[in-house]
Amino acid sequence: MYYDDNTVVFLNGEWLKAQSAKVGLYQQSFHYGNGVFEGIRSYQTPTGPKVWHAKAHYERLLYSAKTMHISIPYAVDELVELTYELLEKNQLGDAYIRPLLYTSENMGLQIDDEAHLFLCAWDWGSYFGDKPLHLVTSQYARPDPASCHVEAKVTGHYANSLLAMKAAKQQGFDDALLLDKNGHVAEATGANIFIQKGGVLFTPKTGHLLPGITRQIVIDLCQSMGISCQEATLSLADVLAADAAFLTGTAVEIKGVTSLDGQVFPLMWQESLGATIHQQFNQKVRAA
Ligand code: PMP
Repeated sequence: MYYDDNTVVFLNGEWLKAQSAKVGLYQQSFHYGNGVFEGIRSYQTPTGPKVWHAKAHYERLLYSAKTMHISIPYAVDELVELTYELLEKNQLGDAYIRPLLYTSENMGLQIDDEAHLFLCAWDWGSYFGDKPLHLVTSQYARPDPASCHVEAKVTGHYANSLLAMKAAKQQGFDDALLLDKNGHVAEATGANIFIQKGGVLFTPKTGHLLPGITRQIVIDLCQSMGISCQEATLSLADVLAADAAFLTGTAVEIKGVTSLDGQVFPLMWQESLGATIHQQFNQKVRAA
């Protein structure tokens, strides 16, 4: 699904067939979760593939690397250029792009700041498919910002997302809504949440979540569309009392949420502000 015999990837300065790209088993990233990565989408437009908010993603990659004391021998513009080259080599238009920076072979807990860059891309349709989303409140809290850099995209942080998603699936739900250590609403396993209440949108304040690039795009879209959108401290009761809700993320895009903990939101997705924003979003990603 992610690659076939013809797939080309970028590894350590070289273009290789995915089948022959290999790394050792003694990587610190593998054992201790010290890697940083991005999830980026490109969309086919009338003038060719467009890497959606490429700069913002690579600026976040560099920021994430800095939090983990990893140095990266590429500038944002070079990374953007490599990404277009990757798409071209794989003849991809609509694609999901995964840059990963992993560290060296080292079984100790000292960080060698040397990093290796892996870039790959594949055709990834709708992350959740077409069906409406049913969320469950997770028993797992988001990591404490006093313990790690929650605002960075670090591989090790995703153990939390994996556990929360597994528990949600085991209970028959599509995804989990995680609270922070204070019991306030944070985010889903790989996406941010917005709720609609009385014609106003609310999304949790930053501090205990990954401040998504799509989250910011939605906040900006709201401003240009004259929709009131506020960043706020939200309780679970606030979400349960909402008229509608949706998730945002690069993989997830904008996806309506039908229910939380079995309680259905009263407003139909098509009648919600989220659906209107989604339409605008779809036009923007496909614009030349
Ligand atoms: N939260 C988490 C935990 C995520 O993994 C993601 C996906 N990167 C998001 C939020 C959404 O971020 P973005 O819109 O930048 O993809």
